[in-house]
Amino acid sequence: MPSSFEHRIALVTGASRGIGRGVAKELARQGAHVIALARTQGGLEALDDEIRGFGGQATLVPCDLRDGEALDRLGLAIHERWGKLDVFVGNAGVLGPISPLSHIDPAPFEEAFAINVTANWRLLRSLDMLLRKSDAGRVVLVTSSAGHRADMPAYRGVYAATKSALETLGRTYAAEVVNVSNVRVTLASPGQTRTRMRTQLLPGEDPQSVPAPEEIAPKLLAPCAPEWPHTGVLFEAQTGAVKRFQAPA
Ligand code: NAP
Repeated sequence: MPSSFEHRIALVTGASRGIGRGVAKELARQGAHVIALARTQGGLEALDDEIRGFGGQATLVPCDLRDGEALDRLGLAIHERWGKLDVFVGNAGVLGPISPLSHIDPAPFEEAFAINVTANWRLLRSLDMLLRKSDAGRVVLVTSSAGHRADMPAYRGVYAATKSALETLGRTYAAEVVNVSNVRVTLASPGQTRTRMRTQLLPGEDPQSVPAPEEIAPKLLAPCAPEWPHTGVLFEAQTGAVKRFQAPA
């Protein structure tokens, strides 16, 4: 039986390591042509080697997500080569400073918003028409429970605020396209995963106590698939739960 990603074009940001790399590999394994974006050329090339190793296809985009004009050019390049985009996984992210809000310097605060929020908006803007050209455009924005948890912990405010903002962007875009296109938008929460970001957050944790990206990545493919019916929802990858956002009660 052909897989549902055969011949589909999928952009994955943050594909040089961690969850994004796992998702890119899994999409390619299932037949997609993956456009893999990150800054680290070596990480992208290693991914490309692995994908070619099992007969898959990838196009590498070494790029800093803070370069908005490069993201505009990427949309143009995808238009010229494929004329459409089937899947956009906005996965790249940074933790930002873990510190009391009053102690944070402006530069790292703004950098976290630039990568976690602004770049995803800029990509949605650049890719919108291409996603609408697909018969089933799928947007998966990788968020975190930090973006919507009720008990807000201290010291993680920048990361949490960027993820809340990302969720709002995704839900707004979902509302804007649902009645006029086949584009569907999901906020996907991978849950605790053994990556560099996790180690940065909790250096004392036994890495083996949380799942590897290779275990999480296949679960994140569900909202990328043409048959995924939901939009504007939260998808928790580790449980498979699909949840609707609610106003505070
Ligand atoms: P990670 O291992 O640190 O990977 C982050 C990825 O983002 C890397 O590929 C990195 O590539 C890319 N990136 C960062 N800054 C970039 C920039 N300026 N331009 C282009 N690419 C950039 O982190 P991860 O844990 O896999 O995180 C992936 C996503 O999952 C994030 O959105 C994170 O918030 C979310 N998440 C993770 C966990 C967890 O437990 N790990 C839990 C909940 C949510 P380069 O450095 O090569 O550019």
